[in-house]
Order: sequence, then C-alpha cells, then structure tokens
Amino acid sequence: MNTIRVSDATAWEHCPRHAWFVLHPPEAEEIEVDRFEELIKTLGDEHEAEVLAQFETFETAKSVAHTEALMEAQMPVIYQPQFFDAELNLIGVPDFLILEGSNYRVADAKLALSIDGKKAIKAQLATYRRLAQSPLPALVFLGDGDIAEINPQDDAVGETFVSEMQALRLQDTQPDTHYSYSKCSPCPFSHFCVPEFKQAGELTLNPMVQARAADGLRNAGIKTLAKLANSSPTELPDVPYLKGEAKKTRAILQARSLRTGEIFKVEDVDLPPGDYLHFDVETDPMARGGEGEVYLWGFLTPASHGPVFEYIWKEHGERADEQGWVAFLQLVRDFRERFENPYFVHYSNYERVQIRRYAERFSNQTDDIVEWLLADDGPLLDLQKLLKAAYVLPVMSYGLKSICRDPRLVNFQWRLEESGSQWSVVRYYDYLGAETETLAAEIKAEILTYNEDDVRATEAVIQWLERIEAER
Ligand code: SF4
Repeated sequence: MNTIRVSDATAWEHCPRHAWFVLHPPEAEEIEVDRFEELIKTLGDEHEAEVLAQFETFETAKSVAHTEALMEAQMPVIYQPQFFDAELNLIGVPDFLILEGSNYRVADAKLALSIDGKKAIKAQLATYRRLAQSPLPALVFLGDGDIAEINPQDDAVGETFVSEMQALRLQDTQPDTHYSYSKCSPCPFSHFCVPEFKQAGELTLNPMVQARAADGLRNAGIKTLAKLANSSPTELPDVPYLKGEAKKTRAILQARSLRTGEIFKVEDVDLPPGDYLHFDVETDPMARGGEGEVYLWGFLTPASHGPVFEYIWKEHGERADEQGWVAFLQLVRDFRERFENPYFVHYSNYERVQIRRYAERFSNQTDDIVEWLLADDGPLLDLQKLLKAAYVLPVMSYGLKSICRDPRLVNFQWRLEESGSQWSVVRYYDYLGAETETLAAEIKAEILTYNEDDVRATEAVIQWLERIEAER
C-alpha cells in the first residue's frame, strides 16, 4: 500500500484527484517534470540553504533512527529530520528541528510571503509537529525573511489532511471532481482527466459554470453540457455564481458553442478609433519576495504605421527594476508624442495591475504618464474584456492562447513550439545564469521572439474581430 508523504499536502490542496494519482500512480506512465516546478524547487532549496546558514551548528539526520538518536542527544538543530508513523503509513521530513529548552520546535523554509490561506503549508507543519510530538507551535521561514508561527488551531487542517489522504489511499477508484482551466491545465494528470471530462460532458468544461454552480445544476437534474445546452434560462434554478437571466443565457450559449463550435454574438464590440499599440509584459513572479518584477515590457507599434516590435528589457543590477520602469514610462511618453490617438491593447487586467504596482513601488502615482495610463477613460484597452462581453466562443478558456491557437477562431500560432509565460520565466533564469554572453544573447532572443508573438497575437485578435464583425 502506498505511503503518504507530508509533502503530498501540495497535491492534496490542489485537487483530491491529483492527491489520489500521487498515491495510485498510473502504470508505465512517466510523468514529465515541469521545468517551472523545477525552478521553484531550486529557488526553494536555495532559500532553505540560506536559512540553514543562519544556524551556527546543526547535524543532518540520515534516517529515522538517527533522528531519534540526535533528539535523544539534544542536538541544538537537526536538519532534515526523518519521521515515519507505521500505523498511518506516513513519512515526514521537515526542514529543521530547533531545540528550545528541552523541547524541539518544527520549522520549514518556504518561498511564500505569508501563510494566510495556505492550506498545504498549514497541513504540512501541523503534521510534522504531530510526527515530532512537539508541544511548540511550528515556524515557517518565509521568502522575504519574516518568520510566521503556525497557530495550534491549524492542527485541525493537519488532521483533515491525514484523514483524507488515508481515505484516498484506500480508495480504488478516482474521486469525483470538477474541471477548472487554471487548476487542470498545468496539472501533470490532465491528459487522464480532460478526455474523461469531455466524454462525460462535464458541466465545468463550460467556463461560465463554476464547481458550485455545477453542483446546483446537477441537483436540479441538469447533469451534462448537452442538457444545459438544450435548457432555457427560465428552467435553470438560481445556483451559486449563476443567478439572473443574463448569466444563465450566457451559460446556455456557452454550452451550445462548446458542443457545436458555433460563435454567438452577444453585443457590439466597442473598439474606439485610434492607433493601436499592442502591449504585453513578462514578469518574474518570484522576484521581490513574490511581488514580481517585470523583465520585459513589449510593444508592437500600430499596423497602419508598419508594425515594429519595441521593448524594454531589465538587465542585471541592483537598480535594474527601477531603470526598466523609468525606461517604460519614457517609451510610453514617446509613443504619446509619435501617435495621434494611441491605445495600448493588452489581454486581461494584468498589465494595468503591474503599472499600478510599479507606480506604488517607486512612488510615481502622480506621474503624468501613470495618471494618463490608469485613468478610467485612459488608453489601456483590455481586449479580453471586450471580447468576452461581445462574443461567446467555443473554448474552455478565454485565455489568449486558447483563442488564438484555435484554427476555427484566430488561428495565430506562436513561432516557438515550447513557450508560455512560465516557460519564459524559466528561460529568464537561464539567461541570468548563462555562462557565456553568446548563450545569454541566444536565450534573450528566444524570450523576445515569444513576447513579440504575444503582441502580434493581440493584433491578430483585433484583425479577426474586425473580420467577423464585418461578416455579420
Ligand atoms: S487534471 Fe484537474 S481534475 Fe485531474 S487531477 Fe489534475 S487538477 Fe485534478
């Protein structure tokens, strides 16, 4: 029978079926290691090493028995102590045991900036404390150098984790769960689940139907996408996240679109006249202790002027982040002078959020360019918002890649086969660590190609929208 590892709490928090797959690995199936996950692990290991270096003396545990001997000998700090509970079939290896008086305190190093709402961290630390039989609250050495204490009331989270994992360990069949694009698309088991969801007509493949709405619809007898597609808004009960005629109509049209491939127009697209510059940022989400730093601000100048890719790249150095931001503001200022009525087309709210965050970071809230960009009637144009308001498309996600790559829709393909925002972050770290200038230049060129394709993709969406609008 498979052993439960306390570190499986991450899979447990992600999805019960993911945790089940960890305990019942599919046979003959090599799960591909995700390079972004590897990068997070490397950064986590570096953080752990930094915390370890703060202790004057420590000893690394080599086994469960060795851990017991070190605890018996009251070693001040035990690194990677090992525990095994045979009754629960549970293995736990916290990062540290720290002696305080005659008791040990369990501690872990995490890249997170806070433990608020972090169920997996709380479950892990509470379970380590249980395995180590420590009476002291566990500690987390956070990514920004702060230390958080796990509240003993979080023991309940640890108990839930252990009991649910025990149940999953004994369960022969996959637990029922829902689809969610953000949860399932990065999951290593998506190629098992997604075809099954499609086969079953799972309601949550519809991006307008969240898990709790799907439960409510099922209780009302609407159990599949087909059934939803053939419903009328008046037949649908009010369920969580699906109340009111407009939302219900949209959910039904979405189900129809997914089944037939048909595109439904809901309202006119409001594209203001002007010079469209396409804008996309690449951000390192781990930098600044998790607040993120933009390493590439990319633009495509208006098609009417012959589109040119222009960008600001964050170089190495202590002040590089601020220099990148100042250069971005200057470039936007230039664009405002070069083009008569510029709009910066971006996809989703992320670019606006980054500009606001940078303005706060460097106290530029009253800068005229910042105020202009962030004004309600300013030049930032969220294309995703416009598109979603106007059309129902046959997609499980309204992400840029889903809509662009679909040959029935925009049919725009990225030049680099292996690319994406997480891929770009991994390559940026490769760039920072490159041993030669030639290699660094090659990696930078790849990342620029990817970002240029992102801004060309929003341009392609605009052109596609104009075309389908004209055809209607
Ligand atoms: S693909 Fe989705 S449902 Fe399946 S295990 Fe992963 S997260 Fe869970």
